[in-house]
Amino acid sequence: MRFGTIAAAATAALIWTPGAEAAPKTPARNDRIWTAAEAARPEQLKLLEKLVNIDSGTGDVEGGRKVAAVVAARLKALGFTIESAPAEIPGLPENTVATLRGAGKGRILLIGHIDTVFGPGTAANRPYAADADKAYGPGVADEKGGVVEGLYALTILNDLGFKNFGQIVYLIETSEERGSPGTRALIAKLVADADVELNLEPGDPPDAVTVWRKGSTTFHIDVKGRAAHAGIAPQDGRNAALELIHQLKGAVQFPTSGDGLTANLTLLSAGARNNIIPEDASAAINARVRRKADLETVAAVLEENARTTIIPDTTVTIRREPAFPPLPDNSGTQALASRAAAIYAEAGLQLGRTGNGGASESALAVEQGAPALDGLGPVGGGFHSDKEYLELQSVTPRLYLLTRLIMELGRAPPARLK
Ligand SMILES: [Zn+2]
Repeated sequence: MRFGTIAAAATAALIWTPGAEAAPKTPARNDRIWTAAEAARPEQLKLLEKLVNIDSGTGDVEGGRKVAAVVAARLKALGFTIESAPAEIPGLPENTVATLRGAGKGRILLIGHIDTVFGPGTAANRPYAADADKAYGPGVADEKGGVVEGLYALTILNDLGFKNFGQIVYLIETSEERGSPGTRALIAKLVADADVELNLEPGDPPDAVTVWRKGSTTFHIDVKGRAAHAGIAPQDGRNAALELIHQLKGAVQFPTSGDGLTANLTLLSAGARNNIIPEDASAAINARVRRKADLETVAAVLEENARTTIIPDTTVTIRREPAFPPLPDNSGTQALASRAAAIYAEAGLQLGRTGNGGASESALAVEQGAPALDGLGPVGGGFHSDKEYLELQSVTPRLYLLTRLIMELGRAPPARLK
């Protein structure tokens, strides 16, 4: 059962075991929050539909602005101060920083990204749709479902007049799907001013939060050769494509799947016409790692290969895109996951813990010493494909979880990581 009650666990809590203290009773569900989460659902899904139907692939400046404007207006209505922060590289829409000061202690940073991996026209071809169990559409789970959930958690807290937090900062960012090149400095600044980071990436099925993630980067192998007529003077050419094939033999020695280091060939291009010896060739190797040092291992192999060419007079260059570090399995995240599981247990629900190969901003938070919990959005799957879905059954439990977690962390924030 995915989101059903855990009657067994509840019963176990009541059974006295000889030689042991009685297990602490699971606190009761906060019915005000649960009822508010249930009541929010129709509106929540309506807003999700609206946002999914606006294309906002990374670099779609107009689409990103449209989505951000909708979210920012709602946050402003809740009393948040809205700041529009220009992206740190050209070609991206602004990031939005919404800040609300409270009367308590915990400084909570919520991060959600509104960029998707889908280009213009996707929403028109494949708009939001839902059946009894699932909702579909570009970015429905990754991560518009999470962005909307964050907004409704803050709406519920506002409706209840909840002020027991130091500050809540909600960062709506616009380049996560490319490794957040437009948001790095901003994230660092916001993390420095936060006790805890909560990330609105989707939860993994059946119903888990994310406690570790791989780091990721893309290596580019660029080969420069010399063009020549393939029929009249092929001997004058230096075939960049052939040299690239040679280089790739070294690049494909790494595992392509599994929980550890993976490196996958994802892009390949060469040549301009079928009767010209190609002057240029390039490939992209997408690497994912549990340990940051493994990126250097991949880099070292590619660079070592690049020193030896089989086609004379060709040159090989290795470039590297900005990386997300891994989110390592760490005690701060596990402690937050335990707090989240306790909140879920209040509602008779069981929360799992998983890790996956998808990178996120939480890795940046943990690297900077702020405890972070990831995968707090609604549960989903099929990310980055036309099979992407969001589990509708998870919408209310996840909204309850996030709302209660903000309350708990506002009251008693965690210590920074050592
Ligand atoms: Zn995402």
